[in-house]
Amino acid sequence: MTFTPHGKHLIAGNWIGTENTFTSEPAHGSAHSFSAGTPELVDQAVKAAEDAFWTYGYASRADRAGFLNAIADEIEARAEAITEIGTQETGLPEGRLNGERGRTTGQLRLFAEHILKGDYLDRRHDPALPDRQPLPRPDLRMMQRPIGPVAVFGASNFPLAFSTAGGDTAAALAAGCPVVVKGHGAHPGTAEIVAEAIHAAIAKCGLPAGVFSLIQGGNRAVGQALVQHPLIRAVGFTGSLGGGRALFDLCAQRPEPIPFYGELGSVNPMFMLPSAIAARGAELGKGWAGSLAMGAGQFCTNPGIAVVLEGAEADAFVEATRAALSEAGGQVMLTDGIAKAYTSGAKAMAGQPGVQDLLTSTCDQREAKPFLFKVSAADWTGNHTLAEEVFGPLGLVVVARDAEEMTRVAHSLSGQLTATLHMDDADADLARRLLPVLERKAGRVLANGFPTGVEVCDAMVHGGPYPASTNFGATSVGTLSIRRFLRPVCYQNLPQSVLPDDLG
Ligand code: NAP
Repeated sequence: MTFTPHGKHLIAGNWIGTENTFTSEPAHGSAHSFSAGTPELVDQAVKAAEDAFWTYGYASRADRAGFLNAIADEIEARAEAITEIGTQETGLPEGRLNGERGRTTGQLRLFAEHILKGDYLDRRHDPALPDRQPLPRPDLRMMQRPIGPVAVFGASNFPLAFSTAGGDTAAALAAGCPVVVKGHGAHPGTAEIVAEAIHAAIAKCGLPAGVFSLIQGGNRAVGQALVQHPLIRAVGFTGSLGGGRALFDLCAQRPEPIPFYGELGSVNPMFMLPSAIAARGAELGKGWAGSLAMGAGQFCTNPGIAVVLEGAEADAFVEATRAALSEAGGQVMLTDGIAKAYTSGAKAMAGQPGVQDLLTSTCDQREAKPFLFKVSAADWTGNHTLAEEVFGPLGLVVVARDAEEMTRVAHSLSGQLTATLHMDDADADLARRLLPVLERKAGRVLANGFPTGVEVCDAMVHGGPYPASTNFGATSVGTLSIRRFLRPVCYQNLPQSVLPDDLG
């Protein structure tokens, strides 16, 4: 089934075209023309979302779960066409698109189950104590309630799992919040077909059309108008530090500021402890190269930095990494802009004081090949540029003289999505020294694995202190991510006949 996009926005159930257009830049296949978004369309979509909230925000959990499952069914019904347009637009291989579709429908179904269980409501009850002295206590009940319309920005690097019907949308809809998505220009056709699936699910479930809208971008005014719209209650975003920070600042400057849940940059450091590296340095080097080059390194959890203790064992690990990376072929990047940022980031790193090239590559246009650099811990800690994310398959080895210096590297890290310890039993003392530092820096600390591959489950945290995210109390993956779109409300002395159903 071939899908040809019509290029329109989905605004509260209507497909609407606009005069101004932009053209997609697929990695292969034909380019298509898309209507560019406008602030007027944003206003229309958000007002419809607010109207829909009065129904959808008060729908039963069973009805919302049914809707999430219906979206998953409608996505599956379009599986082949989604993969076809997705691979064309992003250059990602078919296997990746199929896997990401499974993750997307899995997330929707997981949230359906999660809300049916009801634990997320975090219901609490302090019964009245009429005889308490010196003052009686009233009856107090608490429950989490949905916040209202939510804005979601599609991510360039996850055309399905973090875009139109991705994690942010699934969490918001599960909570009871209507969603307005701003599509990413890297995959507008993929956004359109997924929006079609949501549109069909809305009709099937008899929900108000304003529960979901998709506005394609084409200009910055769309995203800005969306986060500044007075009826938007929160924003979910995955993207660059610069873009995320600009939108975060706009949210903070609103007359009524709102939370901006941005998942931004991270270099995901790995600490290679001495016994582990002595026992299996070559294997770890190969493993790092595989994780670094996977998906052309376009993952927020890409492990960009490995910290080692100087010595022959570390040299063997580095050589194994270099050898494995030098065999990796070129891979198409998501957009021309991302490919340009990658090559200029690699060039900038090569020019920093003390940085040694271990593997340099020549990238053609939208293609990425791996880079590997090395620097001493002393040079690394003194230079913030070296701690910044270069989005793509670029690795930096940081060489510490001793455990003290390795710990100093951990202390100087900025906020991270993940931090990894590669360790054996004999490394436990050093690992115990590093852990208290790393858990202050990262949302997820892992041992003896690679951080790419983020499980969607109850215990996952995909977030971390700034700049990994703009809100260290939150996660954008897993069932806990629903909390971003909820707000605790206390009901004092309300009679049973008036309390919301979930408290009754
Ligand atoms: P981006 O430039 O931050 O864009 C993400 C979204 O935000 C797009 O919809 C973009 O709209 C919008 N946006 C950005 N700046 C804005 C502003 N000032 N005002 C209004 N809207 C704004 O990210 P990207 O396009 O995905 O990729 C660019 C770079 O982001 C990559 O090279 C990489 O460094 C980084 N990135 C990081 C992650 C991660 O998870 N850490 C993931 C993806 C990308 P427009 O399309 O109109 O610009």
